[in-house]
This record gives sequence, structure tokens and C-alpha cells, in this order.
Amino acid sequence: MKVLVINAGSSSLKYQLIDMEGERLLAKGLCERIGIDGKFTYKPQVEGKEKQDAVDYAMPSHVEAIQAVLNALADPKNGVVASMDEIGAVGHRVVHGGKAFTESCLIDGEKIEAIKKNFPLAPLHNPANLLGIEACQKAMPGKPQVAVFDTAFHMTMPAAAYTYAIPYEYYEKDDVRRYGFHGTSHRYVSSRCIELLGKPEHSRIISCHLGNGSSLAAVQDGKSVDTSMGLGPLAGVPMGTRCGDIDATILEYLMNRYGWDMKEMMNVLNKKSGVLGVSGVSSDFRDLESAAAEGNERARLALDKFSYEVKKLVGAYAAAMGGVDAIVFTAGVGENAPTTRAAICQGLEYMGVKLCETRNSERADEHLISTDDSPVKVFVIATNEELMIARDTKAIVEG
Ligand code: AMP
Repeated sequence: MKVLVINAGSSSLKYQLIDMEGERLLAKGLCERIGIDGKFTYKPQVEGKEKQDAVDYAMPSHVEAIQAVLNALADPKNGVVASMDEIGAVGHRVVHGGKAFTESCLIDGEKIEAIKKNFPLAPLHNPANLLGIEACQKAMPGKPQVAVFDTAFHMTMPAAAYTYAIPYEYYEKDDVRRYGFHGTSHRYVSSRCIELLGKPEHSRIISCHLGNGSSLAAVQDGKSVDTSMGLGPLAGVPMGTRCGDIDATILEYLMNRYGWDMKEMMNVLNKKSGVLGVSGVSSDFRDLESAAAEGNERARLALDKFSYEVKKLVGAYAAAMGGVDAIVFTAGVGENAPTTRAAICQGLEYMGVKLCETRNSERADEHLISTDDSPVKVFVIATNEELMIARDTKAIVEG
């Protein structure tokens, strides 16, 4: 079966077509500036087929964007399928599943209503995800569609981990609890880590998804038992531009001082904080590393703050699981920034983490970076959320 994976944002849409026979990527690309002027990118992964790079393509809505994708995939010259019929199903990334969704599911009218009910929990993401679903329903009527939620993997957390210490009625009436995100990524890398450990039972893994957005998950026996993001993706460790965990008093203090409303305050916490806010240099770790190397003290501080907070959570999750067998690094920073990985692991020798400097400096999609005698294994595993979505889609459609 060939599965089309869709990740729809409000004005963009990423796609991949994966042949599940051999899990081979056939094509990937991006529709940008939907509803504005429209740019279309198509990158076939089959020899002899030509790519299109940010070409002008009128996309007044997500419907035209999906149509552009289907036209490119089935194009007689540069397409990778003979016709749309070859596409067996579509898998959609949906950010917030709320309390309702504990696993991926086949989309029907009832599920769409449940996704809509979660709009207030993810006002930026869920409506955009639904636009992608509805556009596919229009362009490919009758084609099975599956929703894969970022939050679902974390729905196994115990109550003590997901409950906030605020009046309980807000959990009961308003669904306020820790949900966590990056679930598809944490699920992918932790299950791969369990395979690499060769220890399917009684495994305790700390999954560190460190990118522009970052979160950690404590994964015990394959199940998420805690994670750092919360009701929304602003919580946990500092990120590119998001603040991570802060004292709520700061909001009251700054809003009073500057006369900001909540929207202005949230804009500061979402867009102007994190390593960008501390450094004043950039949200990108490559820029921070160069600036720190040139002596920029705030860039150094931003990097130190980031690795300190990640390290602290690694310790917390080891405590939560009664120990740890493996730590996994993934996503842009986790996969590509050896100095940040080393800074996080430094000082964790007491709990059995012995990083191998040579292995840590090498590059590979998947490799062990701890020493052979390290009681806790440390891995870099490149994440692949699209493949996970495609696997779920195939499994659900095939029953
Ligand atoms: P992601 O959100 O997973 O795509 O990660 C994007 C982030 O990864 C970028 O903003 C960078 O901070 C970081 N990144 C990517 N490549 C490198 C690299 N070679 N060294 C350090 N950081 C990197």
C-alpha cells in the first residue's frame, strides 16, 4: 500500500508519499503561502524524475494545494504513481487529541466533531490540521483517512504526572491537564531504542526531542509515563523562541508593568523567549554556537541554560522511573549538535552515563554515542514522524 502523509498548517502543507512495501519514500514536498500567492515544491525520490522548487502555483485554499500534490504525484512525466488509485490511504498529523484520542483512528464524521471540540486546546494547530483533512476528503472522496495525534502517545501517563496542582474542577470541567506533544516522534525513537537495546521488557528510556520545539519523555516499558510539554507546547525546557517552564508570577508582574494584554504577553513567551530571548542572537543553535565561540556571553548563557534544564529533567525522569537504561537524542539539535549533547550528559556519570567523545562527534542517522562499558546507553536516533504516521495509517486501514 502507498500512503500519503499530510501535515497541514494554516498556510502550509507538508507531504510525503511512502510505499509501505519496504517503507520507501517515493516523493516529498511542501505547499507554502496557501491563501496568499502559493508556492509549490515537489521532490520525487525516484531516479530520472525532475523536482519542482518553490514554483508559483495558485492555491487560494488547502483544496488547491492538495490538488497540486496529487497532480504532481500522478504526473505522466515526473510523477511516481500511475494514477491516484494507487494511493491506498491518507495519514494526517493532528496536533491535539485532547482527552478523547488515546490512539490513531480512522476519520469519520464523529471523529471530525471530536477534533473540532479540541480547537480551544490548540487554536493555532487543530483548525489547520482539519483543513488538510477536509481538503483530502474533497479531492479524494471515499479514500480512507487516518488521524495520528501528537498527544496520543502520552495518554498513558499516570494521574500524578498529568494533573496540575490547581483546583480539580478545571480538570473535570475544562480538561486542563498535561497532554504533551511530539508523541509520534517520542514513540518512533523510543520503540527503535527498545529494538536497539534488545530488551523489549522492563525498559526505561528518556527520549530527548530537541529541535526548534523541544520536549523530553520518560518512556517505561514502551509507554510514556511523563513528558515536559503540558496543556500546550510552551512548557518544559527552553526552546528556540518559547520560554519553557517559568513562574506564572512573571506574567502578572510584566503585564502590570508594561500594560500588556494576554495576547501580547503570550507573544513574548512564544516568539521572543527561549534561547533567542536569552541570547538576543538567534533561535538557531548553529548561530548560538558560533556566537559563543566568538565570546558572546549571552549566547553562551543561552546554550548553558538549555543544556542545564535538559539535564535536570533527565535526572527527574530517572527518578520517576527508578533508573534509566537509555537516553535518546533526536530532532534538529539532538541529531546534529554534539557539543550540546555532551553538555547535557556531562555530570551524569554518577547515574551511569559515560559518553564516548569520538562516537559523539561522528555523524549517523542512528548510532550509539556512549562507551561500551556505560551502564546507561546513549543513542542518537533520527526521528521519522511521517513513517510512524504511515505505519499507523496502514495498520488501521488494513484492520
Ligand atoms: P527541528 O525543529 O527538529 O527541525 O530542529 C531545527 C533546529 O535544529 C534548528 O533551529 C537548529 O537550532 C538545530 N540544528 C540543525 N542543524 C544543526 C547543527 N548542525 N548544529 C546545531 N544545531 C542544529
